[in-house]
Amino acid sequence: MEVVQKTNLLELDLKSMEAFFVDLGSKAFHGRNVFKWIHKHGVVDFTAMTDISKRLREQLEAVAEVRLPELVFEQPSWDGTRKWVLELEDGQRIETVYIPDDGRSTICVSSQVGCALDCSFCSTAQQGFNRNLSVAEIIGQVWVAARELGHSPTNVVMMGMGEPLANFDPVVTAMDIMQDDLAYMLSKYRVTISTSGIVPALRKLKEVSDVSLAVSLHAPDNALRDELVPINRKYPLEELIPACRDFIEGDKRRKVTWEYVMLDGINDSIKHAKGLIRLLEGTPSKVNLIPFNPFPGSDYKTSPPERVEAFRQRLKRSGIIAMTRKTRGDDIDAACGQLVGKVRDRSRRDLKRRQSQPLQVNPS
Ligand code: SAH
Repeated sequence: MEVVQKTNLLELDLKSMEAFFVDLGSKAFHGRNVFKWIHKHGVVDFTAMTDISKRLREQLEAVAEVRLPELVFEQPSWDGTRKWVLELEDGQRIETVYIPDDGRSTICVSSQVGCALDCSFCSTAQQGFNRNLSVAEIIGQVWVAARELGHSPTNVVMMGMGEPLANFDPVVTAMDIMQDDLAYMLSKYRVTISTSGIVPALRKLKEVSDVSLAVSLHAPDNALRDELVPINRKYPLEELIPACRDFIEGDKRRKVTWEYVMLDGINDSIKHAKGLIRLLEGTPSKVNLIPFNPFPGSDYKTSPPERVEAFRQRLKRSGIIAMTRKTRGDDIDAACGQLVGKVRDRSRRDLKRRQSQPLQVNPS
């Protein structure tokens, strides 16, 4: 007999969930309720969904289930950052990071297992690429985060492992669920996609989503960017910058966030700062300077703090908002560019204990 796998309801956005229930011969509003149970209340056990009749529940159990990525390991940092290692159905592992800051709780979400882009200063790149994540695996990271924290995160950044625009449809659907009022209720200003600059996908994104945009720039000219972010050879700055400007057009509150990793002696001089100012002229911009996070096998060094500050001041003098990103979680390899999905050897006992406890219900 052929075994048909049950539909993982975590794959479905609100519309598809409603359609799924209609197809079952039920009503769309039951789909809405189930969607809310799963994402707003963190309940995935059909028997605990009290407004569903026994008949519908039995019907549902025959064809559907909720399959989550499994939290196998948590690593806390001294600074409050936590790294969660999640195992997927095929045994692969990804990392999700929780960064508490000033009343905000930001979740840094992965979009792929590994990454295909090969940026020279990033350790995820060194791992190579394995595969895209599904909607369930992307939104499942937010679900697990909400369970672990006992509340929904206030911000999500698609800045974990992988290039989100290279996994377009699942990333867009997952970001829609993050913004849904029946789910995590995040505004478009609190969901950020970070890309190395896949221009056609960025233009397509504008048609279907209005999340916030961060771009990994790292260099003010093509020659240097070709070296650091090789996708630049395909989509050079003269195509990337206008595409970013177009993306935020029409919303005066918006700015493009440019990520700029500070590499000692490579891209961190005043000359580079001036180049950057010229490049960003006419584009509403915010620059995030990221101190380079070293990892084994990399030759780059972190720029000295004075140089980072001089660079920042130069940008500021030209009216560009520039911040130096605090390095968070670097003691647990959870900082930018350090996520590799590896697991340090440790017993799973802690976790098993935690997972046998009942789920907490979100306050909202
Ligand atoms: N692929 C997407 C999402 C990754 S976001 C992107 O490129 O935007 C992770 C951010 O951390 C990117 O800006 C990336 O360039 C930066 N980064 C990568 N390696 C780093 C390192 N070793 N130190 C500091 N930042 C790094």
